[in-house]
Amino acid sequence: MSSTDWETVIGLEVHAHLKTKTKMFCRCALEYGAGENTRTCPVCLAHPGALPVPNARAIEYTIKLGLALGCEISKHAIFARKNYFYPDLPKGYQISQYESPLCGSGVFVIPTADGEETVGIVRAHLEEDAAKTVHAGGATGRSVGADYSLVDFNRGGTPLIEIVSEPDLRSADEADRYLRLLRQTIVELGVSDAEMEKGTLRADVNVSVRKRGEEGYRPRWELKNMNSFTFIRRGIEAAVREQVAAYERGEEIEQSTYDYDPDTDHLTVHRSKEEADDYRYFPEPDLVPIEPPAELVDRLRGEIGELPGARIRRLAETVGFDVAEELVMTGKDWKADALAREGIEWRIAANTAMNQPDFLPENAPALAKILQANVTRDALNSAFAVSTTSIISADDYLEQTAVSDESELGPVIDRVLAANPDQAATYRGGKEGVLGFLVGQVMKETQGKADPKVVNRLLREKLQ
Ligand SMILES: [Zn+2]
Repeated sequence: MSSTDWETVIGLEVHAHLKTKTKMFCRCALEYGAGENTRTCPVCLAHPGALPVPNARAIEYTIKLGLALGCEISKHAIFARKNYFYPDLPKGYQISQYESPLCGSGVFVIPTADGEETVGIVRAHLEEDAAKTVHAGGATGRSVGADYSLVDFNRGGTPLIEIVSEPDLRSADEADRYLRLLRQTIVELGVSDAEMEKGTLRADVNVSVRKRGEEGYRPRWELKNMNSFTFIRRGIEAAVREQVAAYERGEEIEQSTYDYDPDTDHLTVHRSKEEADDYRYFPEPDLVPIEPPAELVDRLRGEIGELPGARIRRLAETVGFDVAEELVMTGKDWKADALAREGIEWRIAANTAMNQPDFLPENAPALAKILQANVTRDALNSAFAVSTTSIISADDYLEQTAVSDESELGPVIDRVLAANPDQAATYRGGKEGVLGFLVGQVMKETQGKADPKVVNRLLREKLQ
């Protein structure tokens, strides 16, 4: 039996730190890189009697993201206690949402080269992050071999949104595309920086396999706390490989949590997966339900602009899917748009935005004028370089027009051909690749001022 008989099934739980100024249930500041345990208070350290007060901005951000994912927004959402013990959780429970999350089921649409894929969203709920445990004997290098761990409570209580997808993804590629588009959507909504390397975006990846055509799902492995697009892809591939191998040996798969080790490309069992019962969820008695007024939801809906997925679809009609996807996913499409609105042809605008994306938006009109004016390459490069930091005037560059006058270029070309008889003979012998060298010589002779299109044409004429 070959591996093509097996189908991959992936669902993702994506966690993003919300970009609020303060924590979810207290007023402690959220500052990446602040000294350890300097942003704490009785609430986030779980002193007896301390009471949580929800962060209104975090609730708004969650609703906004829920709307962008097409989720139903709850009229009566409830915070719940998720009970478990860990040193980075001083309360002994995490405040999360369970039966009544803020955002219910939705659909996320992902444009592809052949149309679109839809991924069901089970829910998006709001919770607080745990503190950060540093195993001193391990990765920090601070005290290798130490037999203790350190906890930094600065992160404890950070508002976190968890977006749970249906198991609708069928390959590592699909999971990757989903995750990247979701990340771009989160970033553009302004609700999170969603940077994996800073830990503000993490994913738990649920992977199982089943026979093609099989109904229902087999037990899954959950790869916990994945924080790199590359490792997520490789972790999925490793899980599929190992599960298929196990089934083909006639073994069963148990539902478990796994750690992926990128160094060995293998998975090791973390612990068997707790069932929801193990957490003893119950409604948080210290917090009232969230009942978002319709006016608030309407206002937040009105604040959402055209989302990345929709922009990819729209731009793909003009510049093709691949270019559209790259432009949008790198956040460069609005630069291309700015140039296109000044009359630059879309393909050129897209190319320019991909190669020179750092210009200030205010410079788009001047840059468009310069692009249309046939200036020298040096002038163009220098205009783009300056335009990243200051406002430019097109007039400063327009005088440096490229030389396209044939009577001026003709003698230069004659000189170059006379000085390079071997290359001229090579070209005439049928090896046209040498033309680039000759164009380069003419550009050098003219200090880069010649119009390369005209030089190309004249050279071909003279070499006939
Ligand atoms: Zn606090």
